[in-house]
Amino acid sequence: RGVPALSRRHTVSVSAVASEPRLAPTESLNAKNWTPAQWRSKPALQQPEYLEPEEVKKACEEIARMPPLIFAGECRTLQQRLAKASAGESFVLFGGDCAEAFSQFSANRIRDLYRLILQMSTVLAFGGGVPVVKLGRIAGQFAKPRSAPTETINGVTLPAYRGDIINGPEFTAEARRCDPWRLVRAYNQSAATLNLLRGFSYGGYAGLSRVSQWNLDFMKNTPEGNAYMDIAKRVDEAIQFMIACGMDTNVPFMRETEFYTCHECLLLDYEEALTRLDSTTDKWYGCSSHFLWCGERTRQLDHAHVEYLRGVHNPIGVKVSDKMDPNDIVTLIAMLNPQNTPGRLSIIVRMGAKALRAKFPALIEAVQRSGQTVTWVCDPMHGNTETVSGFKTRRYENVRAEIEAFFDVHELMGTVPGGVHLEMTGDNVTECIGGGASVAEEDLNSRYHTHCDPRLNAEQSLEIAFYVAQRLRQ
Ligand code: PEP
Ligand code: MN
Repeated sequence: RGVPALSRRHTVSVSAVASEPRLAPTESLNAKNWTPAQWRSKPALQQPEYLEPEEVKKACEEIARMPPLIFAGECRTLQQRLAKASAGESFVLFGGDCAEAFSQFSANRIRDLYRLILQMSTVLAFGGGVPVVKLGRIAGQFAKPRSAPTETINGVTLPAYRGDIINGPEFTAEARRCDPWRLVRAYNQSAATLNLLRGFSYGGYAGLSRVSQWNLDFMKNTPEGNAYMDIAKRVDEAIQFMIACGMDTNVPFMRETEFYTCHECLLLDYEEALTRLDSTTDKWYGCSSHFLWCGERTRQLDHAHVEYLRGVHNPIGVKVSDKMDPNDIVTLIAMLNPQNTPGRLSIIVRMGAKALRAKFPALIEAVQRSGQTVTWVCDPMHGNTETVSGFKTRRYENVRAEIEAFFDVHELMGTVPGGVHLEMTGDNVTECIGGGASVAEEDLNSRYHTHCDPRLNAEQSLEIAFYVAQRLRQ
C-alpha cells in the first residue's frame, strides 16, 4: 500500500482544526513540539466536575512521582504485533470488564479473567491458525463516559456515577461526590493488578504445557468447557509429539506469553500525570497502559482527547459507531497516525449488525482509497445494549450477529478482520441473555454484578471464541 498520497481534503481539514503550526506529515511529535498538558487548551468532554481543584493537583502530582505502569519498549512490541493483525498475520483479542471496581478487586477475579483470555486465545490460535495478541481491559479501565451528567431517582438528582476512579456507584450524595484521591487509589490498584498479570505471564502460569489446566471449574461438563478440553488434549498431544522429535521445552513460548493492558483514554488528568518521555527515543508515551483508545463520545477532531492521543506513541484505538462519516474517518486517522505506521491505530467498530452491514463498507472504502493502514477491530457489545426487566443487557445472538456481519463485510471488501473487543468476565455472571449457557430474562437478577455495562460470562465468551475461530479458518 505504501505511503498515502495525503488528499487535499485531509490537509485542509487538519490545518483548519489545529491552531498550532501544522506539522509536516512525516515529522513525529516529541518533547519539542507537543506537551502532555496541551489538551488543556481544547474542549474536554466527559470530565468530572471536581469541587476541590487544589486536591486534584496534589493527587496528580503524587501520581506523576510514581513509576510508570508500563515500559515504552513493550508498547513498541505490541505495535508490531498489531501491525501483523492489520495484515491478517495475527488476530487481536481485547477483553475485560466494562469498568473495573474497587469493591470487586481480588486476585481470584484477575486470575479468572486472565485464564479465560488464555483459553480463548488457545481456541483462536488452534482453530484459526494465527498467533493471538492478548489485551486485557484491565489495570486502568475505570473511568466511564455517561449519557447524562446527572441521574434522577424518585425525584432525587445526583451526579452520575463516572467510574471508581472518580466517584462511587451508590446513589448517595457522599458516594457521588467526585473524590480526587480516588485517582491515587486507582493507580495503586492498577499497579497491583499489573504485578500479578506479569507474574502469571512470565512465572509459569501461562506456559503451553498447562493448557488443559486453564479450564474454569464451573465450566467443567458444559458444552464449551468440553469443546475446550478437546482442543487442550490435542495441544498436549502435539507438544508431546514435538518433544519426542527433540524440541527443547525450555523455549519462551513454552514457558510464558505476552499479555498487554488497555483502557479508554478518558480521564485526562490521570493520563497526563502518567505521560512520560522515553529516554531511548525521546518520544512521549502514555504510561498508564500499553494501549489506549478514544471513546465514541470523545473523538471530536478539535477536542482534548484527540489532542492528547496524537502526541503519545503507544498503539492507540478509536471507537467508531454508525454516526462516523467516511470523510471524517480519513481526517481523524491522518491526525492520529500521520506517518501511516502499521499497528499504530486500530479502528474499533461498534454499530450493531444491521447498521454495520449498511455503513461499514463506505468507511472501509474511504480508508482504503486514502492508502491508510489500520487494524479493524469489532466491538460487538456497545451497539447492542438494551434494557430488559429494568436491567441493562445484551443478547448473545445480537453480539454474535455483529461479529458475523463484521467478517462478512471484510470478506466482501477483500479486507482484513483484525480482532474482537469484548466486555467479558471470568465470573459466572448472568448479565447478557442467551448463548449455549442460556441465561434467560428471568435469570438476569440472579448474578448481575456489573457496575456499568453487561458482560459476557465465561461460557458465552468461549462460545464467541469458537465462532471467531471458525470464521478465521474459512
Ligand atoms: C466502552 O468501551 O466501555 C465504551 C464506553 O465504549 P464506546 O466509547 O464505544 O461507547
Ligand atoms: Mn462499556
